[in-house]
Amino acid sequence: MNCLVCGQLLKRELSFHQLLQFLPIIFSDICVECEEQLICYQEEVCAGCGRPYSQESLCRDCRRWQGQVSAWMIQNRAILHYNDFLKEWFYRYKYQGDVRLAKVVQEKIRNFYKDHSDACWVILPSSPQNFAQRQFHPVKELLKAADVPFEEVFDYIGNGEKQAEKTRENRLKMRQPFRVKENFDLQASKKYLIFDDVYTTGATLIRGKEALGEHLNIHTLNAEEYQIQSVSLARDVADYG
Ligand SMILES: [Zn+2]
Ligand SMILES: [Zn+2]
Repeated sequence: MNCLVCGQLLKRELSFHQLLQFLPIIFSDICVECEEQLICYQEEVCAGCGRPYSQESLCRDCRRWQGQVSAWMIQNRAILHYNDFLKEWFYRYKYQGDVRLAKVVQEKIRNFYKDHSDACWVILPSSPQNFAQRQFHPVKELLKAADVPFEEVFDYIGNGEKQAEKTRENRLKMRQPFRVKENFDLQASKKYLIFDDVYTTGATLIRGKEALGEHLNIHTLNAEEYQIQSVSLARDVADYG
């Protein structure tokens, strides 16, 4: 078996420790070198979007959201660094459609889930145009590979415009593309977590939180009854102006 990312042959030697455990051995689908490129956030991060940031409160991007949306909407955590390795992986996975590559990050997502399994995880729908083009839902496949349970609570009601092709200003003005499904059970959970792949300007996730918040009737920061948070696999820190 070869590494899913770089293709080198995987050495499947058992360590002495593994031999003594008498437990099922789970072999990784990627090599040690590739594994080392998957770096989880541990350092100080922006309270808003989860990018590395050592100063108090919010980074410049997040400050721009202030005043436009409720403060609770500007809260996101990112799991992995968006380094060159992850960018390449993301391109091959999402845009070239190599669905097998979902396995590369499954353990990182799974580990994050273990600490956040009290929330109901939800995903945002693809536009029909994107789905027709890709033939798969990239975020859904990530969670399936990681064995993380999730709900599909939204209908897509947008016009199919691609986020990536918009300028920052247009993204901020983006019309609400999501609507909570009519039969969605409000009481199902008090805690919601919207999971997405890469956080860029935050517009998509914020619209998702807004739609969920409206449905749950949350209009203030002190929404103690419900909690809506978001987590992205990574945070793109490039400046989009
Ligand atoms: Zn490799
Ligand atoms: Zn931020």
